[in-house]
Amino acid sequence: MAQNVNDLKPYLRSNRHSPTLLVNQLSQERAANGEKVFGFGFGQSPFPVPGEIRDALASSAHRKEYMSVQGHPPLREAIANFHNQMEGKDWRPAQIIVGAGSKILIFCVLAALRRAHVLLPAPSWVSYEPQAGLAGHTVSWIETTFDDEWRLTPDRLEQFCASITDHDIPLVLVFNYPSNPSGQTYTSEQLEALAVVMRRHNIVVIADEIYSLLSYEPGYATLEQFYPEGCVVTSGLSKWCGAGGWRLGFVRIAEEFGKSFFQAVMGVASETYSCAPTPIQLAATQAYSDCALATEFLKRQTGLLRDVSQYCSGTLQQAGVNVHSAKGGFYLLPVFDRFRRELNANGIESDEQLTAALMADTGVALLPGSAFGMPSKSLTARLAFVDFDGDQILQTERHTAQFDRVKQGIDAMCAWLTELH
Ligand code: PLP
Repeated sequence: MAQNVNDLKPYLRSNRHSPTLLVNQLSQERAANGEKVFGFGFGQSPFPVPGEIRDALASSAHRKEYMSVQGHPPLREAIANFHNQMEGKDWRPAQIIVGAGSKILIFCVLAALRRAHVLLPAPSWVSYEPQAGLAGHTVSWIETTFDDEWRLTPDRLEQFCASITDHDIPLVLVFNYPSNPSGQTYTSEQLEALAVVMRRHNIVVIADEIYSLLSYEPGYATLEQFYPEGCVVTSGLSKWCGAGGWRLGFVRIAEEFGKSFFQAVMGVASETYSCAPTPIQLAATQAYSDCALATEFLKRQTGLLRDVSQYCSGTLQQAGVNVHSAKGGFYLLPVFDRFRRELNANGIESDEQLTAALMADTGVALLPGSAFGMPSKSLTARLAFVDFDGDQILQTERHTAQFDRVKQGIDAMCAWLTELH
């Protein structure tokens, strides 16, 4: 007998459509109506995939066979060599699993565990909590503060771990740096101090290093250096190579986790995505084989991103907004609490109301901080400052004039704030 679809309602999961994609859709609708939009909601790379890598994809288009679940061996070798050379890692190809983006690999690691207590610093990226929920895990948020530059501190981690009563469930911390949404990162000293607490409480860390190569300062400090036995690292092509839609990521699992853990992650990979697309794996082999090309490309990207981010944070600070300048990646996390009285007088009490009003009055698209685990009343929002044509900008020497759309959006926000009564 055919089932009435309404009968299924009580059984549906309550996962919302990812808020980042929703803002993108709202912005597109506004733009389609001919209205002005400053697309600071969705954070994808504005830069083009380098020509050599695009050519490698074009010449692999005829490759239609499945590849192994773990990934094309030359690609895994290229990834290991690349990160060893660029970031001083000590990786081997056998420790790497390639997948269709790092997002699904974070899920594979979470789903490899039957039960886990997943710890997320607030703020954290939007997808960790829903993924942990899909995997059936308990989630706890650990507060961070503006004054600590939104970083997890050893004290707060220790305090949280000391409060845990159920010691039979593994603790898994998802730890992303440079951070989406805050743009902040950690120094070696800070990572070393955190590693002490992580080791004491036997925490499995999923180190989400998807923005590591987009750190503005050279010499990326890595948690693995201080806590090699407890880190599972994820990264991929999406951010540094401008190839988010290609869907190519990987996870590196240290031998200390043991064969059965590795096999459990591989098992989830094999029962979900099977393998990353074959032509993309071949093009990615090219991307990860040329450190000189990547170094040059990254130098230009990070110089430009730093300039744009400094314009944004500096201008917002002058207007009275609390915001730290970014240390890497595409994002800032401004706090509008200094305008609380004026905002409240205009009926704006939550970050959702704030982002909706900004969109309606100025066309600026931001994401509410609550999408990242911040309290809704904290009046925080994530700003992705990448609404510019990276292809055009990279071709010119003097690039400052060319992120006018970003400047106009920031100026429109500041004018809106000043005009609040
Ligand atoms: N982690 C963070 C913090 C991200 O911002 C993103 C993408 O937006 C991802 C992971 C997922 O990246 P991928 O494209 O490799 O799935």
